[in-house]
Amino acid sequence: MVEAPSAQSSLSTASSASVTSCLGRAIACTPIQTSRLRYTKTTRLIRQTNLHPAVVAGSLKGEDAPVMRAFLPVVVISAMLILACSGHPEPLSEAATGANLLLISLDTTRADRLGPYGYAAAETPALDRLAKSGVVFERCFSPAPITLPAHSSLMTGTDPFVHGVRDNGSFRLHESNVTLAEALQQAGYRTAAEVAAFVLNREFGLDQGFDRYEDTSAVADTVLNRTSASRRGDSVADAAIERLREFSADARPFFLFVHFFDPHAPYDPPGDWSTNRAHPYDGEIAYTDAQVGRILKALERLGLAENTVVAVTADHGEGLGEHDEDTHTVFLYDSTLRVPLIISAPGRLPGGLRVPGDTRLIDVAPTLLDLLGLDPLERAQGTSLLARMSRREGSATPVYGESFYPRFGYGYSQLRSWRHGGLKYIHAPTPELYDLQRDPGETVNLAEERPQDVARLRSELFSWILDAPRPPDSDHAIRVLDDESRAKLRALGYAANSAQPITDEVALFDPEGDDPKDHVIDLRIAARVLGLIREEDWGAAEALVRRLVSLNPKSAIAHSNLATLLTNRGGSVEEAVVHFERAAELVPTSDRWAALAAALERNGERERALNVYARATSTPPVFASAHVAFARALRDVGRLEDAAKQYSLGIERDSDNRDARLGLGRTRLIQRRPDEALAAFRSWVGAAPEDAEGHRGVGEAMLQKGEAAAALPHLRAAVELAPDNPATHLGVCVAAEAKGDLAVARAACSRALELTSSLGDERRAQGIRARLQRMRE
Ligand SMILES: [Zn+2]
Repeated sequence: MVEAPSAQSSLSTASSASVTSCLGRAIACTPIQTSRLRYTKTTRLIRQTNLHPAVVAGSLKGEDAPVMRAFLPVVVISAMLILACSGHPEPLSEAATGANLLLISLDTTRADRLGPYGYAAAETPALDRLAKSGVVFERCFSPAPITLPAHSSLMTGTDPFVHGVRDNGSFRLHESNVTLAEALQQAGYRTAAEVAAFVLNREFGLDQGFDRYEDTSAVADTVLNRTSASRRGDSVADAAIERLREFSADARPFFLFVHFFDPHAPYDPPGDWSTNRAHPYDGEIAYTDAQVGRILKALERLGLAENTVVAVTADHGEGLGEHDEDTHTVFLYDSTLRVPLIISAPGRLPGGLRVPGDTRLIDVAPTLLDLLGLDPLERAQGTSLLARMSRREGSATPVYGESFYPRFGYGYSQLRSWRHGGLKYIHAPTPELYDLQRDPGETVNLAEERPQDVARLRSELFSWILDAPRPPDSDHAIRVLDDESRAKLRALGYAANSAQPITDEVALFDPEGDDPKDHVIDLRIAARVLGLIREEDWGAAEALVRRLVSLNPKSAIAHSNLATLLTNRGGSVEEAVVHFERAAELVPTSDRWAALAAALERNGERERALNVYARATSTPPVFASAHVAFARALRDVGRLEDAAKQYSLGIERDSDNRDARLGLGRTRLIQRRPDEALAAFRSWVGAAPEDAEGHRGVGEAMLQKGEAAAALPHLRAAVELAPDNPATHLGVCVAAEAKGDLAVARAACSRALELTSSLGDERRAQGIRARLQRMRE
């Protein structure tokens, strides 16, 4: 992770310093330029003309010259302004900073379903407009057809085996990665993200570098719903527009990342968007385009459009039945790997330009940083596409792809792909080779006919992995297996043929196990199970997942889904324990161990549950929820100090975690350590002043210290925030009684008694009655 930048730093790179100081001098040396308005206009003038030197130079030499010449007068004015006030010539590149950046990711969006990519039935007016004013990259590819790995690549400019995130859910982008957001934050940008799906929630590490990262935490509840939690496009767009409004009030540049999830299955576009379309998927895309349009309009309305670079791309495509795949994640065909990439930068890039040739999602961050005049990311494998834009030529850039989902989810082999020189090789147990010029649909496998091409591409693929930057200290399940788990995996045949340690990417190079394409029926059943779970048709989901478990007992996902379904439907706890255990052994993740521990608790096996919780909290990546669950279990058996430690670790992991913050305070109260309780509750009140429980905690801690008078206002605040909670009234009663204010105490206790009785909590009601009786005596 890069060092945290100082909050006050403006554009602090060396190159921008000269611009800002020059501006200061421009104002000082020109008497009439004293008004704030004039200053703003001057700033904008400089910013408008931040043409990147590579684009200017390349374009003026090449075919883009007529387009670019239109901008020349402004360039000259800006350059003259700089020269005039600085007193010595400075190249224009010194001014190439300061534009805002809006990066939009359309989840699950195939390029060939959009207007700018020639889809006749497309209804994508916003993207059509953007394409006209910007640059369209005709063939851009994701390195993985899976949301979190692909977004991690988008943000870091590296392939999944370098940034370390190989799948959703069980991986977390490690802090040692440097992201686009961190680079921009470091350069003085205000940064914000609005993401629409649970799989990108902050606990998975993509929040690095964002001052503000809004995800689906607020809409998450049960585990089943939590993992499919998403935000509709309109709510994402509303929030994004609100961020733009805030940004427009401040002169510092901003980076806003917006993620739409609507095109992802299930396809259920709202209202009119669901009718009159060839496929509901098109309706979702049309709906999403309308939301993108709203954001772009807001950009104009707020006067930000002329100084904002807009980039639109996607994390992956969608199978839509091609190659026996309805959705995405398993196979590496263009149906799921090809994504749109459109970059618009008014005054900086020519409009309507189309760049042929292969480009990669890992090139996006390097390109955007280059465009903004900032240094490239240190470890990026992707490269800036600016020169390609000015030359308009294709490129022989090879493109890497992978999916480890078949391995982690189903116990089949992982897949890798290598696209180079018009050919595509898929490194699978049964290798595949496609001639993309003649067979863009990848339908005729030429691997047996052309063994030399297979050997050449395979060796290039191997070199790409061998020569890549070393992965960071990864935070994921496979790299950190303990010996015991590793032995279990080997016993299961999981890594049986691997003589080298499984931590080594090179050892993971060759395919291992069954080829996923030999199991398309199982994969379709598995996809259907996920669909039924999303539709909350638990009965049908359970029946199907049982079939899947018997078809493929090595599928961790099948075992985990069966166990979760049993738990949520009140099925056999013992059976759930068996399947959670099997899933955790096949592919150990913190979530799976935590789910097993909770099932063991329900089954009355407390000691075993504690042992398994210990595993859940030591199998990275660990989420705050695992620490909280472990803490609660420890508290239940009276191990209060251990519980407090786990709550603290939960807070360390996620400082916004309410259960961890309140749990720590409550534990300190039980331990009768009021000073520590007070500190815990006070800090929570600071973070969430609207939460009654924080105020009640502060009051109760003060009561425990014997400070009844000081406690009373806090307890009253709790009553005001939660008037229907008997505990808040009881708190006021106890404090008022201790203070000697018996009338107030009696009234509060009476109200607490009413509320408690209405909840049917007779044990507690008796206690309150006894207290009232004592006060009367
Ligand atoms: Zn996705």
